[in-house]
Amino acid sequence: MIRLENIHKTYATGNNKLHVLKGIEVNINEGEMVSVMGSSGSGKSTLLNIVGLLDTHDEGDYFLDGMLIKNMNETKAAQYRNKLLGFVFQSFNLIPFKNAMENVALPLYYQNVGRKKRNRIAMEYLERMGLLDWADHLPSELSGGQKQRLAIARALISKPKVILADEPTGALDSQTSMEVMDILKEVNKDGITMLIVTHERDIANRTDRIIWLKDGIVEKDIFNGELKAYKERKLISVETK
Ligand code: ADP
Ligand code: MG
Repeated sequence: MIRLENIHKTYATGNNKLHVLKGIEVNINEGEMVSVMGSSGSGKSTLLNIVGLLDTHDEGDYFLDGMLIKNMNETKAAQYRNKLLGFVFQSFNLIPFKNAMENVALPLYYQNVGRKKRNRIAMEYLERMGLLDWADHLPSELSGGQKQRLAIARALISKPKVILADEPTGALDSQTSMEVMDILKEVNKDGITMLIVTHERDIANRTDRIIWLKDGIVEKDIFNGELKAYKERKLISVETK
C-alpha cells in the first residue's frame, strides 16, 4: 500500500540546508497497523507529510496503492488525498465555528455531496464514535478525547484506504490516549492501513509493527511480536522518551 524506496528530503532555509531524510526504505502492506518512532526532530512528521502528499520528496520513489507519486501538482495531490487518505493530527484540526456534525461532514462537502445527505452520513459516523449526543456542539465544548474521536470520524467519512496519524494522542492524558488507540485498532480491523507517528512507547506498543527513524534512515523495523521476543532475550535495548 505504501512503498518508499531511497526517499530523501532536504529543507533549505536561507543558507542552511537540513538533510532530514537520507534514504528511507519502507514497505507497508494493505491492512497493516504501523507506528513510526524516533526522537523529536528525527523526521517523523516530514515522512508522514510525504506519505500524505502534503509535501514532496527530493529523491527516491514513493508508490501509494501501486501508483508512482511523481511531479504531482496540488490539484492531483488533493484528489488522491480525498480518495485514499484520512488524516488525524495531534491538534485535532477541527473547524472551531462548525459543530461536530458539520466538521465530520466536511470531506463530503468537498466531494459535492448535498447537505442533507452528508449530514445524515456524518450522523452515522458520529454514532459509531459514540458522539451522537454531541452533534450540535462546537469543538470547544468537547473534551480532548471527544475532539480526537470527532477527527477520526471526519477521517473515516470519505472511506480512505489509509489513515495517517501524527501524534494522535500527543495532547491527551494516558487513559484517553489508550481509548483513542482502541478506536484506531477497531478501525484497522476493518482493513484500513494505518501509519501512526508517536514518540511514546505505550502508543507504539499498541501497533503491530514499529519503525524507528534515526539520523535520517530507518534504524529498526520490527514486528511487535518479534519485538517482545527480542526484549525478553535482551538483544535490543529499547529507547524511551
Ligand atoms: P519530528 O516530527 O520527528 O519531530 P520533523 O519531521 O517535524 O521531526 O522535523 C525534522 C527536522 O526538519 C527538524 O529539525 C525540523 O526543524 C526540520 N523541519 C521540519 N519542517 C521544516 C520546514 N518546513 N522547513 C525547514 N525545516 C523544517
Ligand atoms: Mg513531528
